[in-house]
Amino acid sequence: MFQHVAYYAGDPILGLVDKFNADPRPHKVNLSIGIYFDEKGKLPVLSCVRTAEIERAREAQPRSYLPMEGLASYRQAIQHFVFGKNNPALLNNRIATIQTIGGSGALKIGADFLHQWFPHAKVYVSDPTWDNHKSIFEGAGFSVSTYPYYDAQTISVKFEEMVSFFKTLPADSILILHPCCHNPTGVDLNPQQWDEVLQIIQTNKLIPFMDIAYQGFGDSFEKDAYAIHKAIEMGLSFFVSNSFSKNLSLYGERVGGLSVVCPSTEEAQLVFGQLKAGVRRIYSSPPSHGAYITAQVINTPALFQEWEQEVAQMRERIKTMRQQLYQTLKTKLPHRSFEYFIQQRGMFSYTGLTPEQVQRLQDEFAIYLVGSGRMCIAGLNTSNIEYVANAIAEVLA
Ligand code: PLP
Repeated sequence: MFQHVAYYAGDPILGLVDKFNADPRPHKVNLSIGIYFDEKGKLPVLSCVRTAEIERAREAQPRSYLPMEGLASYRQAIQHFVFGKNNPALLNNRIATIQTIGGSGALKIGADFLHQWFPHAKVYVSDPTWDNHKSIFEGAGFSVSTYPYYDAQTISVKFEEMVSFFKTLPADSILILHPCCHNPTGVDLNPQQWDEVLQIIQTNKLIPFMDIAYQGFGDSFEKDAYAIHKAIEMGLSFFVSNSFSKNLSLYGERVGGLSVVCPSTEEAQLVFGQLKAGVRRIYSSPPSHGAYITAQVINTPALFQEWEQEVAQMRERIKTMRQQLYQTLKTKLPHRSFEYFIQQRGMFSYTGLTPEQVQRLQDEFAIYLVGSGRMCIAGLNTSNIEYVANAIAEVLA
């Protein structure tokens, strides 16, 4: 009956995690998956989350279905967090926001919506990007191509090439953009570059889809959303998929959101209706626990403040690890340049290691990176950083 079913080789990153878990070597280091681990190498439970959970557990909570669009207080929390409370588009009810199953769910609902209402559009993702961008949009029926992004020579954005490419695209081309902490390279656009890109988007009537999964890991909640705020200010219509998996360390709760900024209140209502219809036909309604906790943290000033501090600590720890890695490698291999470790932003670093060098790290040192050379810096800590730096120096020597 199922002999014709194609073999699935597995997801490259999730497959590496399985391999890592099965590795018996006690000194193994997981720098593959995009998860923040603390100084002790543990997945943190944020104190603001713990407080909200204890509060909520005080009384028995009936578990009714949430509506298709999700929990109202959570949707409002997303809007305040991503766009800012006093955003004019929000005050004019021009933003349609639904709760989604993580950032991935937001991409899926957004992709399905776009395919239904812009069936002839083409989708463009950065070269490289998070692999699932391509899978999700292809899964929705789109043809997905890449736009120039990362320059391995200069370890920065191929800005001129990217901009020239955008100028060639027909109206309604869909661009998947990373507002901050680009996955997998860690290389971001600066505000001036965003201004220029958004101007081209506006002139050429392209459709921006901003996927923000690491808000707070770059500079701050506010600064990391620069592109989103600027796009609103310019009067653009666009999509935002956001995720609290990383910044609230709530990976398994699947807390995400999809927002569509529309030209008018009427259009926002039409879009909102279709987003609900999209949810209804896939999974009917989203899960509730993570949404209640996230809403409680964001909507309670004291908890929000605590959260902001906890994210700042995570961000600073990652920066410290970047600095230490840079210092050790610079000392060990003075003829090579390692500045990129401290220039890149967020959890990830494109190390420039070849697939062979990555394989050696795995085979000889039990250090796991993605085959592309992407390293999750948040897997480093003071106990393993010297070991990792020495191993990298050895495979590079
Ligand atoms: N978008 C990007 C760029 C990501 O890196 C990730 C997760 O790694 C996601 C979306 C998906 O987030 P979630 O785990 O909330 O589905």
